[in-house]
Amino acid sequence: MLPALLGILISALVASVLVVGLRAPRTRKLAMIGLLPAGCGFGAFAWSAFAPDAAPGLRMGAGLAAIAAGIAHAVCFSILPLPAKRVWMRLILIPIGAWCGTFASLWFLWHQAGDSVRAPLVVLGAATILSWLTVPFFARNRGYVESGTRKIPSVRFPCPRCGTRVDWGQGIAACTDCGLFLHIYWPADEIQKRDVFVTGDHEPASVRFACPQCRVKSDWPRGDRSCTHCGLKVSLHWNTHTGPIPPAP
Ligand SMILES: [Zn+2]
Ligand SMILES: [Zn+2]
Repeated sequence: MLPALLGILISALVASVLVVGLRAPRTRKLAMIGLLPAGCGFGAFAWSAFAPDAAPGLRMGAGLAAIAAGIAHAVCFSILPLPAKRVWMRLILIPIGAWCGTFASLWFLWHQAGDSVRAPLVVLGAATILSWLTVPFFARNRGYVESGTRKIPSVRFPCPRCGTRVDWGQGIAACTDCGLFLHIYWPADEIQKRDVFVTGDHEPASVRFACPQCRVKSDWPRGDRSCTHCGLKVSLHWNTHTGPIPPAP
């Protein structure tokens, strides 16, 4: 009963990560695919709790949950913020976790394979754990971005186009992954009263981030607005692109 409960908990945790990925256009499809094994794994664990012989259900549940966890890892590493110079790391970190999930799944479902599955699983597992331990360092919010030797104050929020979390430097900044140009400035000298903007179908009309001055999180609509807490004037604009959204690497 206890392993089944633990499995249900892990499946639910993986599913909740995938639900976050649904919100970002670039990981939406991947997250949808991942929800299928997550849901089936949840079901297999639940079934094993009541079946006379729990072992097959547990093995099936663990195999499915491992695939879903590998996909959840890929979703996380596709949208977590990385400095522009380190974006290439996604190309290594994403496959490591995805393959780790695949081999873990093989190990649960096809245990008699022995060392041919266990050896790569141990290596990939160690690399995946290392990637999670180091990610708080690489993805930390320093409050500025580096441009040559200059440190430009930045705010962090998901790219309105692809959904990747980006530290946007003050002034004109480009998304690290899709290249969307965004103009953000504070304190804005004057507030323009032009509030009519055309937004694309999949682009939000506002983004959520912490005010650069008082650090209170709120929704900032596209255009010129003042912080509702400290009154800081922020100017925020981006262009609506009509091109396709880049897929997760
Ligand atoms: Zn983007
Ligand atoms: Zn404020």
